[in-house]
Amino acid sequence: MSAPFSWIRPEPWGVHVVPADCWIDPGRAVDRALVTHGHADHARGGHGETFATPETLAIMALRYRTGIADDSGEIPTKAVPVEYGETIRLAGGVDATYIPAGHVLGSAQILLEHAGERVVITGDYKRRADPTCAPFKVTPCDIFITEATFGLPVFSHPPIADEMDKLLGALCDAPDGSVLVGAYALGKAQRVIAELRAAGHTAPIYLHGAMEKMCRLYEDHGVDLGELRLVSDHEKDTMRGSIIVAPPSALNDRWSRRVPDPITAMASGWMRVRGRARQRGVELPLIISDHADWGELTRTIDEVDPQEVWVTHGREAALLRWCELGQRKARALALVGREEEDE
Ligand SMILES: [Zn+2]
Ligand SMILES: [Zn+2]
Repeated sequence: MSAPFSWIRPEPWGVHVVPADCWIDPGRAVDRALVTHGHADHARGGHGETFATPETLAIMALRYRTGIADDSGEIPTKAVPVEYGETIRLAGGVDATYIPAGHVLGSAQILLEHAGERVVITGDYKRRADPTCAPFKVTPCDIFITEATFGLPVFSHPPIADEMDKLLGALCDAPDGSVLVGAYALGKAQRVIAELRAAGHTAPIYLHGAMEKMCRLYEDHGVDLGELRLVSDHEKDTMRGSIIVAPPSALNDRWSRRVPDPITAMASGWMRVRGRARQRGVELPLIISDHADWGELTRTIDEVDPQEVWVTHGREAALLRWCELGQRKARALALVGREEEDE
């Protein structure tokens, strides 16, 4: 009889499921990878087999073709789709179940079960409602392996309705100009657009060309984004009074000259930090995050009620301390290569 939980082993570049010889979100190419979602710090190419939700596999395929996610340019030799709620049996008597994480389209937590022990790896997650993906589901377990991107009490994301009010208010105030919103191409951009639609904004929304394929992929998976137009297809004057969505890198480059008198906005959880908005020259910071804030991280641990908490990445010190104060064992894994780029 082996020691409890010796079958799950964190390494700096991923979590190893030993009896199955597979890895969760590995940072290098492996024979078997279980991938939580399509962001580049979790998903990469070159694996022998990739297990992920159909949506994540579609996102990964799109990103390989465009060369965003993977610098090796390799395509997985075998993609194995796993639906939400589906349990697959891996080698060595390990069961893996994919459960919605509420982070971006297709994002999953992975429940691993072996020898009567249950481990949940969240990947990135959030608890707020998001019209573009299935909601996070609380799953009881013994070890809860969580992210902590916003793991400080200062991080408390405002209701998204407040941020939509700010955005639509700015648009109202600038009928002859435009509002240029910086948002990451996978997840944030589609969420901002879907939330604008939910807030009653039915006018065409203009896109930077780098956004187009991912928006179409979301639409193909049933997410309604309303009328989208490409900036490159339209004259400057037709875009007056419109919202334009672009990758954050485009906000201050030459491309932005095509946009009529823009107010520069950015949608990110980091917009809570004034210095970050200033650094990027953002006039209208929109605090919109696809990660759990402090209150959600701690509430989720309470609801999941694990014996132990492992923190993959982020600002972990305060969360570790919070766990200890609540008589819960906790450790930092400090996985390398996890980035903030998806936020
Ligand atoms: Zn992510
Ligand atoms: Zn991440």
